[in-house]
Amino acid sequence: MRWTQTLIPTLKETPADAEIVSHKLLLRAGLIRKLTGGLYTFLPLGLRALRKVEQIVREEMDRAGASEVLMPALQPTDIWQQSERYEIMRDVLFKVRDRAKKEWVLGPTHEEVITTLVANEISSYRQLPRNFYQIQVKFRDEIRPRFGLMRAKEFIMKDAYSFDVSDEAAQASYQKMYDAYSRIFKRCGLKTIPVEADTGAIGGKFSHEFMVPAETGENEVVYCEKGDYAANVEKATSGRKSTFAASNSATEKFPTPGIVTIEGLSKPPYSVAAQAQIKTLVYVVASKIVLVLVRGDDQANEAKLTGAFGTGEFRAATPEEIFGALGAHPGSLGAVNVTKFPVYADEALRGASEMTTGANEDGFHLRNVSIDRDIKVTLWADLRTVCAGEPCPVCGQALKIQRAIEVGHVFKLGTKYSKAFNAVFLDEGGQQQLAIMGCYGIGITRTLQAVIEQSNDKDGIIWPASVAPYTVCITPLAVAPETEVMKMAERLYAELSAAGVEVIIDDRDERPGVKFKDADLVGFPIRIGVGEKSLAKGEVELKLRGGALTSIQPDQVVGRIKELLATSK
Ligand SMILES: [Zn+2]
Repeated sequence: MRWTQTLIPTLKETPADAEIVSHKLLLRAGLIRKLTGGLYTFLPLGLRALRKVEQIVREEMDRAGASEVLMPALQPTDIWQQSERYEIMRDVLFKVRDRAKKEWVLGPTHEEVITTLVANEISSYRQLPRNFYQIQVKFRDEIRPRFGLMRAKEFIMKDAYSFDVSDEAAQASYQKMYDAYSRIFKRCGLKTIPVEADTGAIGGKFSHEFMVPAETGENEVVYCEKGDYAANVEKATSGRKSTFAASNSATEKFPTPGIVTIEGLSKPPYSVAAQAQIKTLVYVVASKIVLVLVRGDDQANEAKLTGAFGTGEFRAATPEEIFGALGAHPGSLGAVNVTKFPVYADEALRGASEMTTGANEDGFHLRNVSIDRDIKVTLWADLRTVCAGEPCPVCGQALKIQRAIEVGHVFKLGTKYSKAFNAVFLDEGGQQQLAIMGCYGIGITRTLQAVIEQSNDKDGIIWPASVAPYTVCITPLAVAPETEVMKMAERLYAELSAAGVEVIIDDRDERPGVKFKDADLVGFPIRIGVGEKSLAKGEVELKLRGGALTSIQPDQVVGRIKELLATSK
């Protein structure tokens, strides 16, 4: 490719609305352009890099035995009603109407479509297992698109769906995808941490997210440096044990005027340690009041609450609702002798005694509370968020927390969709069975941006060769035709192209400094500089992105580059 024939609109200045480095570099390196919030055009170089990621994903999915299909982005709403996700996903579903005013959905995912297909086309255990995947545009009605391709209204995903005859077979399919994902991200040059993720109602360990550690990530990963434990913060547990004073003193009400926080009570004259307090939270779950208790120094975890409540449809109660229910305002709340409402308690409070909690009377607390004796707990569950420094649940070493970008997710679905769409098969005994499903996503556009987020320096992008838009950029320092410099540049361009190396020649009539800066900004792994001075010595310059300049004889260029590419694989 010739630079002057394509479109690489590099920018010196950072666009004002780009917040994170990868978003800035996508724009500055001329890889994408914004049409409007959350919608981007891929320019030639951006598209080439995107296709590289797609191709790696495709090769590894094929290698893992999956078959590629392509499903419609436009979907009828009735299948979304059939799966009951029309309501559940209403906040993100993109809906459009046709001229007859009929409503349609622009798919954010394709469980409904693939299960409809399989229900029609597969009828015997002999046809299973099967795994179908596609690489396709998805839509999400994102209110606040941010961070470029990271959170957009339209994006490209690889989504795959496996169908199996048994739980055991489904787990084997899951493991194949887990392994394929590990290979995919490695080939993209990405360091990822596979972490245990929330499984909702399905339970078990069959949900993993592949996370790219990055300070700008929207997720948090809890992990042990020994490598024996990693989970997203929604799922993470720790080996922390609560110890409580053993005592049987009677509860005692005492005045705490103006004290409405855990911290306030932890200071003199009260000096009640946060971990000796019970924090009482009040939620409205499906229009009913529910009390949630965690240790004073702990935070309730929304994802874990969703699991415990069995629904994501809940919110914190308003002060008015709380006063109506408990007769006190936030800061003086407790669950002692509360029988009218369900009380959900975090596991860390099991067996707690000598605790202090609100008295459900403004300005008063209760001390010497024993949870078993004084509080009627409806349900015990893990409801709290793990903090950095708590012991690893496997080995006891202090856990760390790291922000990260989610690039892939493997998930065992079970029979939720096969039930909804009657995806059944006849087993060996002629009995009808529901297919066991799994679903597996990779954000292709997001993975591309994650590569940039993880691999850059002050000068620009540092592409791994596997994803770079072009491997080599030839930079003639002057471009007047028929000069020795330009002849050599053209010769190397022809030789490298013939050798199957992806090469671009910067044939712009620009100062060398401008060209070098642009080559670094775009991040081509190898740059070949052809100038009068070095040519006089029978040499050209070879520079690895971020590395030192070396001189090389023109005849050795192709061989040397092939060598470099072989070792980078
Ligand atoms: Zn550990």
